[in-house]
Amino acid sequence: MIRCDATHSSDLASWVESARAADTDFPIQNLPFGCFSVEQRQSIGIAIGDEIVDLNLCVQNQDLVAAFDVDLKSACAAQNLDALMALERSAWQALRGWASAGLSTDADPQTRAALKQCLIAQSDAEMLVPATIGDYTDFYASVFHATNVGSLFRPDNPLLPNYKYVPIGYHGRASTIVVSGTEVRRPCGQRKGPDDAEPTYGSCRLLDYEMEVGLWVGGAVNPRGEVVLIEDAEDRLFGVCLLNDWSARDLQAWEYQPLGPFLAKSFATSISPWIVTLEALAPYRCEEFARPEGDPAPLPYLQSTTERPGFDMQVQVFLASEKMRTEGVEQKLSETTVANLYWTPEQMITHHASNGCDLNPGDLIGTGTVSGPEAGELGSLLEITRRGAVPLQLVDSTERKMLNDGDEVIMRGYCESKDAIRVGFGECRGVVVGS
Ligand code: MN
Repeated sequence: MIRCDATHSSDLASWVESARAADTDFPIQNLPFGCFSVEQRQSIGIAIGDEIVDLNLCVQNQDLVAAFDVDLKSACAAQNLDALMALERSAWQALRGWASAGLSTDADPQTRAALKQCLIAQSDAEMLVPATIGDYTDFYASVFHATNVGSLFRPDNPLLPNYKYVPIGYHGRASTIVVSGTEVRRPCGQRKGPDDAEPTYGSCRLLDYEMEVGLWVGGAVNPRGEVVLIEDAEDRLFGVCLLNDWSARDLQAWEYQPLGPFLAKSFATSISPWIVTLEALAPYRCEEFARPEGDPAPLPYLQSTTERPGFDMQVQVFLASEKMRTEGVEQKLSETTVANLYWTPEQMITHHASNGCDLNPGDLIGTGTVSGPEAGELGSLLEITRRGAVPLQLVDSTERKMLNDGDEVIMRGYCESKDAIRVGFGECRGVVVGS
């Protein structure tokens, strides 16, 4: 269990003015990691307000990074987060502590002046996929989403009997993971509507989003053949981001049996660029989902040993059609909390490795669509429109059964509590373009 420390104090303030704005996603208590390009070079850094602490620049100043060991120095000189993710929690905590102290109003004048030389405006940087993603797995951890979707496809039998025992997932495609802001091309594929005699190949007609959270794996690799015990699973979690698992519902309905999602998902997955660390999330941990009376207890290998294995993280989805964007308007479609997930990130990690599968730094795990029990908490259009049966009315006087070309899906997330400063996750955006 990661404990709160001085870096979480609400009294802490940064000398970076934009980090003190009440609505910033990146106050000094957050300090997320990302990868970016600026002036023809690629670097990694830490978001603070509207700025980035460029770690490649920091390591060029020996005095500034005197406290780093050789591995941390080398990780901070790298062009993406691969090496940093391969270190362990103690290194991540050391780096966070260093950034927190240096960016605080209590920092000594020399440190402050040196760090100031290493600041890049976020508006000057282009954010990139933060690490080399070797493998991408997508889970199905919301029982509300699984029940809603199951009831559309199998009204008599919405939740399959394995759901409450097995954290269900499938292997996704790493090569098509793109960073927020990248256009997403409507895929082509085979589809066969209920009234079609034969399937046809063509442009997807039922394009959807899925609001998910991305879990970044880090830390010491479990050698192939060895499991990750649930008490060690937290040490394999580097941090989290927002994730949009774009889904072609017509392709999916035709192809998904018997082996699950394939081309309906593998054409694109968007992620937010900043990885909010588990350290930053320490004040917002919560108890795991309360299983309803009568549900089985998790099998022993999946029983949490920590007090607060859940995450109370709010996630939101907004939609803006092309017309709405010209007017600067976006429409909120849903908001819910990650605390609604039936399975915790630690359970997903432990289950993933429970057959001896090695999990590697830079692996990305999607939680599955985060939906809650209420109408405003549905994380996909499939659920909001009941597969098109109840179209969504947009403020531009059009309606949607699924996404149109030109639509932009915008995801945001944040954590707040009465005892801690609000931290945000930035945005995960994507505009749909025609095939
Ligand atoms: Mn998904």
